[in-house]
Amino acid sequence: MIAREAPAGLVILGHPVAQSRSPVFQGAALQAAHLSQTYERVDVPPGTLDSALARCAAERLGGNVTMPYKEDVAARAAHLSDAARRSGAVNTFWHDRGQLVGHNTDVDGARASIEALASAAGHDGAVVFGAGGAASAVLLALDALGVRDVHLVARTPARAALLVARTGAAGVVHAADAPIVRDLTARASIVINATPVGFGDDHLPIAPEHLGPDTAAFDLVYRPGGTAWTRAVAASGRWAEDGLRMLVEQGAAAFRSWFAIEPDRAAMWAALDATPPPIRRAAARGTPHTG
Ligand code: NAP
Repeated sequence: MIAREAPAGLVILGHPVAQSRSPVFQGAALQAAHLSQTYERVDVPPGTLDSALARCAAERLGGNVTMPYKEDVAARAAHLSDAARRSGAVNTFWHDRGQLVGHNTDVDGARASIEALASAAGHDGAVVFGAGGAASAVLLALDALGVRDVHLVARTPARAALLVARTGAAGVVHAADAPIVRDLTARASIVINATPVGFGDDHLPIAPEHLGPDTAAFDLVYRPGGTAWTRAVAASGRWAEDGLRMLVEQGAAAFRSWFAIEPDRAAMWAALDATPPPIRRAAARGTPHTG
C-alpha cells in the first residue's frame, strides 16, 4: 500500500522508544534518497497516544509504531491495509487527506527472512513459537508464501487460537508443554521464535537437537553477533538468522509506502553497522550460517 502524498516528516511512536534503531537506518535511507524529511523518536507515555496522533495529523507526519501501541493505532485508524486488518496491528502509518492510514510491514519483513532461510528447503512446514503481534505477522507471511502446514506453539493457547481465527491464516495451536512439539520441530522446514525469549537472556526457545537435520531457525529477536539460539543452531550445522533482516525489510517496505521508491538497503545495513546474512540456496543446503 502506497501513500497518496509523502509524509512531511517521520516519527516512531512507542514507550519506551529510546532503544529503537529505526531512526538510525531510516535516517540513512532518507539521506541516500536526498529527501529532506527527518525521522524522530517520540516517546508516548501511557494515556497520551491520542494527543501524539493529533500532532501527527496536524503536521501530516507518518512513521512507525512500536510496543505497546501497535493494536491501539490499528483501532484508531480510518483505513487499514489488509495486513494491518488481519493482524490487528499497525507498525507503519501516514495520513491521507487528514485521515489516519495504518499498514503492517512486519509481514513483509518476516516474509523476507522466511524466504531467505527456507525457500531452498521447500516450505514443508513451519513451527511458530508465540501468540502476540509478531506471531500474527509471521502467520500472514507464511500464508502469503502458501505454507499450509503451520503449527503455533504458545504458553497461552487460547490467545493463539484467537490469533489464528483473526488472521484467517493456517495454523494448528499447541500448548508449549505438549509432547508433540518436539516431533513437529524435528520435521519442520523452519522453526520461528516470535516470543521475547533470548532478548535479555541466553534462553533458547527450543534446543538445536530437537530440530531436524535440515530445519532452519528464524529468531525475530536480534542481538549483535546473533542471539544465543541462532548461534547454537548454527554451531549445530543448521541455518539460522536473527531478526535484523526482518527489521531492515519491514523498514524498507515502510519507506516504499511513504515515498513510493525503493530505499538504499546498503545504506540502511551500513547504518546498523551490519551486513545482510546470505540467502540459503538449494546448492548451499547444509552450509550453516548465523545472522
Ligand atoms: P507480544 O505481543 O508481547 O507477544 C509475545 C508472545 O510471546 C506472547 O504470546 C507471550 O505469551 C510469549 N512469551 C513471552 N514470554 C515468553 C516466555 N518466556 N516463554 C514463552 N512464551 C513467551 O510481543 P510481540 O510484539 O509479538 O514481539 C515478540 C518478539 O518479537 C519481541 O522480542 C520483539 O522484539 C520481536 N519482534 C521483532 C521484530 C523484527 O523486526 N525483528 C518485529 C516485531 C517483533 P503469552 O501470550 O502467554 O503472554
